Parts: sequence; structure tokens; C-alpha cells
Amino acid sequence: MVPQVQLYDTTLRDGMQGEGMSLSAEERLRVAHALDALGVHLIEAGFPSSNPKEDALYKLLARERFENAEIVAFGMTRRRETRAEDDPALRLLADSFAPVCTLVGKTWRLHLEKVTRVEPDENLRMIAESIAFLSAQGKRVIYDAEHFFDGYRDDPDYALRCLRAAAEAGAENLTLCDTNGSSLPREVGEATEAVTAALGVPLGIHTHDDAGVGVANSLAAVQAGAALVQGTMNGYGERCGNANLVTVLPALELKLGLRCVEPGQLARLTETAHLIDEICNVAPNPDQPYVGRNAFAHKGGMHVAGVVRDARTFEHVEPAAVGNDRALLVSELSGKGTVQAHAEQSGLELGDEAAARVVDRVKALESTGYQFEAADGSFDLLIRRETGDYAPLFRLESFRVIVEKRESGRVETEATIKIWVNGERHVRTAEGDGPVNALDCALRAAIVETYPHLRDLELVNFKVRILDEAKGSGAVTRVLLDMSDGVETWGAIGVSENIIEASWEALVDSLEAGMLPGREERALARRQDAMGADEGVGTAPVPRP
Ligand SMILES: [Zn+2]
Repeated sequence: MVPQVQLYDTTLRDGMQGEGMSLSAEERLRVAHALDALGVHLIEAGFPSSNPKEDALYKLLARERFENAEIVAFGMTRRRETRAEDDPALRLLADSFAPVCTLVGKTWRLHLEKVTRVEPDENLRMIAESIAFLSAQGKRVIYDAEHFFDGYRDDPDYALRCLRAAAEAGAENLTLCDTNGSSLPREVGEATEAVTAALGVPLGIHTHDDAGVGVANSLAAVQAGAALVQGTMNGYGERCGNANLVTVLPALELKLGLRCVEPGQLARLTETAHLIDEICNVAPNPDQPYVGRNAFAHKGGMHVAGVVRDARTFEHVEPAAVGNDRALLVSELSGKGTVQAHAEQSGLELGDEAAARVVDRVKALESTGYQFEAADGSFDLLIRRETGDYAPLFRLESFRVIVEKRESGRVETEATIKIWVNGERHVRTAEGDGPVNALDCALRAAIVETYPHLRDLELVNFKVRILDEAKGSGAVTRVLLDMSDGVETWGAIGVSENIIEASWEALVDSLEAGMLPGREERALARRQDAMGADEGVGTAPVPRP
């Protein structure tokens, strides 16, 4: 299938400019494979380097096979007053194994005057000669016209001359860049149309989200004729980030009816977005369009009833199309219908009477500070307790946590736990970075012999809130935590006047929810599917409460 719009991912270069982003060569390789499985056409791997340490990624990539994607090497137009063939950076590009090279160059006179101090005509030669050199070396070249929209606003004639120089030198695609994120969709659309009319060559679009319209600008450019979209996974990137390909792709396919990826690949979107978050050590944004945990979450009786009758009433696309699930939020507002629908999603039959009991139970718990909207794991367990489908993983005999602070300022934490699993007593002690971490370590040490899958679960989010509004008993602490098996993430909740007790309750729920029927199998299958059988799961962020 020839895609109508090509996806060009720059997570490994522009995305890595984002705050706190840092990946090893091996992790970058895993990102590349995840992108390939999603159907991304071009994966930009960054600058090739002459430094062997920095070149590790190119070495790894050269040995790999990709189903869909081609690797793109990135570089700049030649230095001024140098011949292209004498420019060491261009030589590295020519020598790299990558079949495609993207060259970024200037189009905005302001930059020539204030930043590079290169004469406008010399800049045109730099563009043309660099592209011609790489083309002659057998590379396909994409020209990234840096600051194109700013340049076009300032001096459209010169901006177009830059593009023409690139096209005539053999670039197969001219990508218009909104490098500062200064433009709005209408402007992007009009400029893209004007370039198409003037040059008639294939165009691409590269936008940033500084004005909150990175995705909108990309779509506007596509509607005006661009056939390649550059962006990053989950919108990573410096400042406010790049255009988010995770949002762009479903919009192209589902809203604009354009073919981008092979059938079935769009359904990998959610797991790919989360997997890459995991590799990059970023907590998935629950409100992210299409793939967020809340993207198809419904609260309130009327919404829920509508969705149950016909999903189109309150949903813009089918969640399964992007590999997401519908979430029906549970709250005081909702009645039996929500609870029954939720139970059905978890594969449980819940009769009217049991559903009514669950609703009563939820109401009672919510009045003491519980809130199940973000705690789907705990809610699953709650339903199972009502249907008799619940068996605890272990019986607690006791636990003890010691926090010791020394004169030197050092703080040490240790937890000891005594539990019974299948009639056997397990006693374990563990140190941790905090009381909850120590408890988690001790509990898991005691239990993984029986349930090895629990070793793979990662605590990815830990939130503590003091609720003073809870009735009667004074302030209570609510702990919400998210546990992940690398594929699915679920929430668990604990409420108590004691923060350790609240954390413990949430921790136990999160582990028990991780062992619910089907979850372990799904995690294994989908992970192997996504990564190839020999790959493990990435490290997830572990907050240290
Ligand atoms: Zn950029």
C-alpha cells in the first residue's frame, strides 16, 4: 500500500530535546522498533557522529531489520565557504547506512542577518550544493526549511527561492518547518497551498506546539497538500513539544479518511504510545487525546446510559480503532447501569441485586473519602467481593515499618512483613527509599515466589492527598497509585487517617488487581507482540513516597 501521507518520526532527535529526556542507544533502538510496528515510514535517528561512543545507535541500527520504516540521518547544510564534499558533517551523512538524509537549512533572512551572518546568495548555494552532493552519493534527501513560516511572512520571495534551490538540487521532499511554533492553522494552510502552486513538489510539515496548535497546523498543512508529517511520539520536544504524531495519525485516518498505515496498525496506537512513555520514563498523560486513560471515560448517568445504548452519542471515534478502551467512571452520580457495564467489561456477570449492593457500597465508601474514578483496579476488586469472585493473594499477620533519621542527616527505612500464602508463613525484611517503598519491597519479596508475575509490575504513579472534608473523623489521607505491567495500567486507592495504612491498602489492591484473570496473559502476549519475544519491559518511573 502506498501511503497517502507519510509519517516521519523525530522522537529520537527533536523529541530528545525535551526536558529530562535521555535514552541509551539500546533504548532508542527499542523506540525505533515500536515505531516500526506502528507503521511509521521514516524514523529520524539524529546526527551521525564520528565519535564512536555517540555513534552506538547508528551501529545498532545498521544491523537491524525494519518491516515498514526507513532510517533517516539528520544534518545541516554545509558550512559557509566550504565545498560540500569537504564538509566533515556532510561526509558522515554520505557514509552512513541510512538511505534517507534530512538536511536542515535557513529560509528566514532575519536568521541570516542576526544569527549565522551568511549572505542570502551564499545561503542558497549552501542549500543547493549540500543537497546535490548527498544526491550524487545516492541518498534520498528531505530538505527541512527551518523557520519557513516566519521567513515566508517576512519575505515570501526569498523563502520560496530557498525552497526552489532545494527542489532543483534534487530534494525529494521539502518540509516546511514552524520551528518557533509561531503560526496558526490558517496561515500554515495558506502558505502550504502557495508553495504547492509555486513549486509543485512534494511537501512535508514540521510544527511545534508553542501556540497549542502543533497538531492543528500539521493537519492544516495536509489539507493544503502536504504529504509527509514530521512529529514526535506523545508530543515530546523542547519548550511545549513537537506536533504529537499520536494525535496526528488517528486524525489523518479517522477524520480525514487518508491512508497512512497498514490495516490493523492504528489499533496499536495506545499500546505504542504507552510503551514509548515507559521507555522514556514518562508517566502517560491520562488526558491525552485518543490514547489517554480518560480519552473515552464517561461519568454521570446520562452519558453512561447514552454510551451503553449507542456509543456515537458521546464518543467521537470508536475506542478500539486506536487500541483504547472505554472507561465508565464510577461515582455517586452513577447508578446500577454503570456498575453493570463496568462489570461486563471485566468479564463478570452482575445481577440487579448485586449491582445495587455495589452501588450502596460505593456510596458508603465515597462518603468516607474514597473515589473510584481513577482506581479501576480497586473497583474491579470491589465488584468481585460482591460476586464472590474474589480470593485474597495472602493473609497479613503483621507488618512493621521503621524510619530512622541520624544526626548526619541520613534517613534509613526498613520494613518487616509477616504473611501467609497458601498456608505457608513468609517473613521478609527490606530497606527502601521511603516507608511505602520499603513495604512494597518486603511484600513483594515475600510473595513473588508464589506469584512471579508480580515482579514485573511497576509502581508508576503515587499521589497523596489530605482530605479534610471527610465527615466526622477529621482529616484523612487518600492514596492513589497506578501500577503497570508494561502494557496495561490500573489504579488503586486506599484511605485512612494513617498515611502508611492508606498506602498499604492501595498497594495490596494494586498487586491483587495485577493478578486478576487474564491480565498476566494479556501483558505477556501483547508485550511479546510489541517487542519481539526476546525483549523485556522498560524501566518505569518509581516515585519514592
Ligand atoms: Zn523542530
